[in-house]
Amino acid sequence: MSVKENIQNIRKQLPEDVKLICVSKFHSNETILEAYNAGERLFGESRAQEVRLKYESLPKDIEWHFIGHLQKNKVKYIAPFVSLIHSVDGEDLLSEINRCAEKNNRKINVLLQVHIAQEEQKFGFFEQELYDFLEGKVFQKYPFVKICGLMGMATFTENETQIEKEFSVLNEIFRKVKNDYFCSDDDFCELSMGMSDDFPIAVLKGSTMVRIGSLIFGERG
Ligand SMILES: *Cc1c(COP(=O)(O)O)cnc(C)c1O
Repeated sequence: MSVKENIQNIRKQLPEDVKLICVSKFHSNETILEAYNAGERLFGESRAQEVRLKYESLPKDIEWHFIGHLQKNKVKYIAPFVSLIHSVDGEDLLSEINRCAEKNNRKINVLLQVHIAQEEQKFGFFEQELYDFLEGKVFQKYPFVKICGLMGMATFTENETQIEKEFSVLNEIFRKVKNDYFCSDDDFCELSMGMSDDFPIAVLKGSTMVRIGSLIFGERG
């Protein structure tokens, strides 16, 4: 199956208002252009220098989403162009994004990553940590950052009931945060959840953007 056919198959399963982020990390410009030529414009990457090079050499109407763990000292590479950072997990990172955004004369859109999986190595705020962070309103100190929603990753498991439960929990957290802190903010509207193996469940549970790599591009080399 070609990249184009893979995309068509996924699009058939996605409601029109759910955004498809084509996760192109570790894939070449040539492969990315196959998806671009099939009409896709949103691409997700997880390494700062890699996405910087791709941004410089690929068409400028691509929206680059940063989806992986982001180290503070790497923010500067992506700050001039990144369209959404999905993986903000603390004030230090938020503060650095704000600093780099101001330097580049722009606002940077971010999502707050929430830890919903049972694995220890997944990053993100724990639920209570997230509420404490928002309650303190520290994000108001950072006018060059716009918080647009939440992101989360389910446990890597075959157990669909568990995945369903984790996405439901994230959806509840999303609605609570929206209601308690962003109810009059139309920009807070994105819930990024769902990958190749679990995106149909994520969509049922209210995802607004799915991040899909291997199902489009094949296994990463
Ligand atoms: C790599 C990655 C994806 C895509 O994973 P696939 O299983 O290949 O679809 C999605 N989200 C994040 C955060 C990733 O790092």
